[in-house]
Amino acid sequence: MISEKVTTVCPYCGVGCGLEVQPPASQGKATNRDSEGTPIWKVMGDRTHPSSLGKVCVKGATVTEAINKNRLKYPLYRETLQQDFRQIDWEEAFNLIVKQIQLVSKTIGVDGICMYGSGQFQTEDYYVAQKLLKGCLGTNNFDANSRLCMSSAVSGYMGSFGADGPPCNYEDLELTDCAFLVGTNTAECHPIVFNRLRAYHKKNRHVKMIVVDPRRTATAEAADLHLAIKPGTDIDLFNGIAYLLLQWGAIDTFFIDECTRDFPAYTQIISHYPPQIVADKCGIEVKDLETAARYWAESEKVLSLWSMGLNQSSEGTAKVRTLINLHLMTATIGKAGCGPFSLTGQPNAMGGREAGGLSHILPGYRSVKNPLHRQELEEIWQLPSGAISANVGKTVWEMIMGLENGDVGLLWIAATNPAVSMPDLERTKQALLKSPFTIYQDAYYPTETAYYAHLVLPATQWSEKAGTMTNSERVVTYSPAFSSSAPSQAKADWEIFAEVGKRLGFEKYFSFKDSAQVYQEFVKTTRDRPCDMSGLSHELLSKYGPIQWPFPLRSDPENRYGRRLYTDLHFHTEDGRAKFAAFHSRGLAEPPNPDYPLVLTVGRLYGHWHTMTRTGRIDKIVKMHPEPFLEIHPKDARKYQLEDGELVRVVSVRGEAKFKVKITSAIAPSTVFAPMHWGFLWAENAEANSLTHPHSCPISKQPELKACAVNLIKVNQI
Ligand code: SF4
Repeated sequence: MISEKVTTVCPYCGVGCGLEVQPPASQGKATNRDSEGTPIWKVMGDRTHPSSLGKVCVKGATVTEAINKNRLKYPLYRETLQQDFRQIDWEEAFNLIVKQIQLVSKTIGVDGICMYGSGQFQTEDYYVAQKLLKGCLGTNNFDANSRLCMSSAVSGYMGSFGADGPPCNYEDLELTDCAFLVGTNTAECHPIVFNRLRAYHKKNRHVKMIVVDPRRTATAEAADLHLAIKPGTDIDLFNGIAYLLLQWGAIDTFFIDECTRDFPAYTQIISHYPPQIVADKCGIEVKDLETAARYWAESEKVLSLWSMGLNQSSEGTAKVRTLINLHLMTATIGKAGCGPFSLTGQPNAMGGREAGGLSHILPGYRSVKNPLHRQELEEIWQLPSGAISANVGKTVWEMIMGLENGDVGLLWIAATNPAVSMPDLERTKQALLKSPFTIYQDAYYPTETAYYAHLVLPATQWSEKAGTMTNSERVVTYSPAFSSSAPSQAKADWEIFAEVGKRLGFEKYFSFKDSAQVYQEFVKTTRDRPCDMSGLSHELLSKYGPIQWPFPLRSDPENRYGRRLYTDLHFHTEDGRAKFAAFHSRGLAEPPNPDYPLVLTVGRLYGHWHTMTRTGRIDKIVKMHPEPFLEIHPKDARKYQLEDGELVRVVSVRGEAKFKVKITSAIAPSTVFAPMHWGFLWAENAEANSLTHPHSCPISKQPELKACAVNLIKVNQI
């Protein structure tokens, strides 16, 4: 038990704020307590953390209130989903897992084994899971909830630059001339990033802020220009801005000639996007389009920020690449205050990408499809040649489909809650009901997904295990095990994976003494790769504090922050040049139609996190956001004869949900908004994802969770 203050990292969002936590015993008379009266760790911002500079939002400030609540204490098992769980010990749990893996390997083959992990993992958890599935078992069927969150950013960066990795730093928020925020309600979803930007924007009158979002969010309220485009018209807008920049000569021909390729094909495409056509498609005024382009043209340094609004789209990769095109044509990359900057949702989605935590990638920013990459990793892992499969693994939606058609015999879900977060939720639940064997591993119980599990395993959470997380700006923070709140039987995710590996006969690959050894092995897989962090270790991070990568062997830990990517204007493509991408917009996968005439867009609220597994147990946050709702424009409310506060049925072709109506002109006409947080544990029939569809980007395989066609039916009930 630690009796001193310790520094750690917030386990909620990808901003990755540094926290200083103080144990109850040293707080004196004013000891912080949770709502049940249990003394809890006091949370403050860590002023020494380069990403957050001592600031935290309400989620970080209250996170320790959930540490002791509703913890899963021991493994639970039932043979069928109709039975009640019975308590079992770990010995039985491990035997069940090993038996099922062996059975599925024999009957369906190793590709019948699937794991769905999470950006809540520490990097060590991610890494050991990859070694087990992709290395030892020989299936690439590991996917993570980053598939629903960030995979379009991954494929966008890879397509344009030849490698994943956001090139910017948070410092750029305070160095830019123009911030271009697209599909991101940063004020609510990444509040500390937004606070830094807003403070700088307020102080510096020359700095422009453009927000592109169909909703007038808190982020849009702070902007100089809000472009409330129609959902699905982002590519039209970006190509329209490019058209004007080209027409005005506001491009950097030297950079284009020396550092990029495929510009001529791109100019062909953008010639189809004159202002009036773009303005009509996007539903904005020509003058506003011109103002946005003028801000780009007049700014030496433009920083674009985005999150789900671009990524969660059936053309997510095309959107990201079309946005990056604007940076390439204006040479706003590789310099302070500039660049395309994706904001990750989960706290360690970036660590997952580094450790190969998606079904098409391998540790060290390697690709499953690349034979050299597989060979390199087989050598590092000392596996026989050909041990790593050349087949891209199943994405999470493909895993769900695999349950439907009998291709999946074991689904292992850890640290995430797909029974709330997946699109087409009813279909997802029906598929989960068909699963021959589902393992659910988490710190909390119950959760919605636990209802679909055969075997439930108690995991420690971030405060109870030592490990690392990487935030959106590539800063790696070490978090020590500081609280003794874990139930005695809970184990770290990586320990569970390693034990299963050992019991399957792969002892020598999993002989880790502790997570520091896991990390030591992981960083070796990044050596000489674009995400080289081979100079990092738990010891170094613990001694010097958070460090930004790239950080190759023998890097100077005193110089631990301030590394931008591509400052040498050399990219990771075959010829070192960044690639322009020429895309026309295809629009929404499910546009509104006479039966479903409105577009539903879903999103997040300031206080709640993901599916409320933690925040639903924190009184202050529940009071802040007591119930789900549906935002609707006054014009549409009149059309449907809806009153504020009235309950309305929202229906799509897949399902329905009920929400209280909130009439507001903050949402564009013909569009409605609902938060995605609530599952059936927290509200009856208010799951936004029962309405959404799984149509995905063909490149990133990220579903278009952001938009679907719906209709409204009055319930006449207050
Ligand atoms: Fe945590 Fe994100 Fe809030 Fe920072 S901004 S305190 S990382 S939830």
